[in-house]
Amino acid sequence: MSRPPVYMDNHSTTPVDPRVLDAMLPFFTEHFGNAASVQHRFGWIAKEAVEIARKHVAALVRAQSKEIVFTSSATESNNLAIKGAAEVYRSKGNHIITAATEHQCILGSVRMLQQQGFDVTILPVDRYGRVSAEDVRKAFTERTILVSVMTANNEIGTIQPTAEIGALCKERGVLFHTDATQSAGKLPIDVDAMGIDLLSFTSHKMYGPKGAAALFVRSRDPRISVAVQMHGAGHEHGLRSGTLNVPAIVGFGKAVQIAMERMEEENGELFRRRNMLQERLLRIPGTAVNGHPTERLPNNLSISFSGVRGDQVMTAMSDVAVSAGSACLSEEVGDSDYSHVLQAIGLNGGTARSTLRFGVGRFTTDEEIEYTAARVTETVAQIRERTMIGAV
Ligand SMILES: *Cc1c(COP(=O)(O)O)cnc(C)c1O
Repeated sequence: MSRPPVYMDNHSTTPVDPRVLDAMLPFFTEHFGNAASVQHRFGWIAKEAVEIARKHVAALVRAQSKEIVFTSSATESNNLAIKGAAEVYRSKGNHIITAATEHQCILGSVRMLQQQGFDVTILPVDRYGRVSAEDVRKAFTERTILVSVMTANNEIGTIQPTAEIGALCKERGVLFHTDATQSAGKLPIDVDAMGIDLLSFTSHKMYGPKGAAALFVRSRDPRISVAVQMHGAGHEHGLRSGTLNVPAIVGFGKAVQIAMERMEEENGELFRRRNMLQERLLRIPGTAVNGHPTERLPNNLSISFSGVRGDQVMTAMSDVAVSAGSACLSEEVGDSDYSHVLQAIGLNGGTARSTLRFGVGRFTTDEEIEYTAARVTETVAQIRERTMIGAV
């Protein structure tokens, strides 16, 4: 009973890679300068480190360094992209297209814009969680200024036809934003080839620290602008004021560098371990995998277990950290007590509440996969047995 708990919730956040921590440490004490204090050496050192990180972050999505704005979180990046673009391009139109399975920070932002008079189309998804590019095309109006569709989903892992949607937006001269938080460091991203104008991602989901994230803002063909949401002394080309979190940005840069070096091999390892877990868990009767069978993140596994509630399993299995389909409640997004993503793919409340999300990570071992599979199998059986006895 003395084994350490297993972390199988890598879609929520990831541990900091020890190499990332090593890169960060000097920037708390020795190199503590303010990156905006360019009058002295302390500031120069901090600024230089930030610019190296910016280069790595830009390279991950094949952007230019000057197109990267550092923020505090993907939530902030998404708010800046959606609200910032809506404000600037309002004179061209007031219609925004997004999808039902987006993160709450996207849905919350468009809902706020709706209250300010914007028209918002929330596209449905198919039973695997995919948006159809054809639906995007049909939703365009003369007034459409922005499309925001995530690259991959945080609950069911489904990968969207990002390049196809990007191409349609290019054709129409409509801005395309994508929340690449779950795919950054896993799927290759090329902002030019994929027709992306605005793109968000965050450090803490790719083995970097919390408190650093990026927004890519296209600077050519065409040059995009977003309206400032954080006014101040003019950091980040005036787009996002506030003293930069230098240690976190340095860590973010290092995390990106590591991800780029081994993306393919690491994906192979994630994929193998995820499939191992999936194969074991599907041996339990009354189980079904959610998300796309093939167009899915290599580390994602969302499974519904008929007749048991996800939160019951989680409580009974406190040494394995997973996430339930009832998580991510937000008052802004619907009023049901289960995930809007599972609702969007057509699961009823009962099935959605019986869903668990597993997220395999860089540091997950085969032994942890085996242990998790065994614990879930035994816990589900126990709960089902108890429920049956209770029903007699
Ligand atoms: C985690 C997540 C976010 C929010 O990221 P933070 O950096 O924690 O604000 C946004 N979108 C998706 C898809 C996510 O998975």
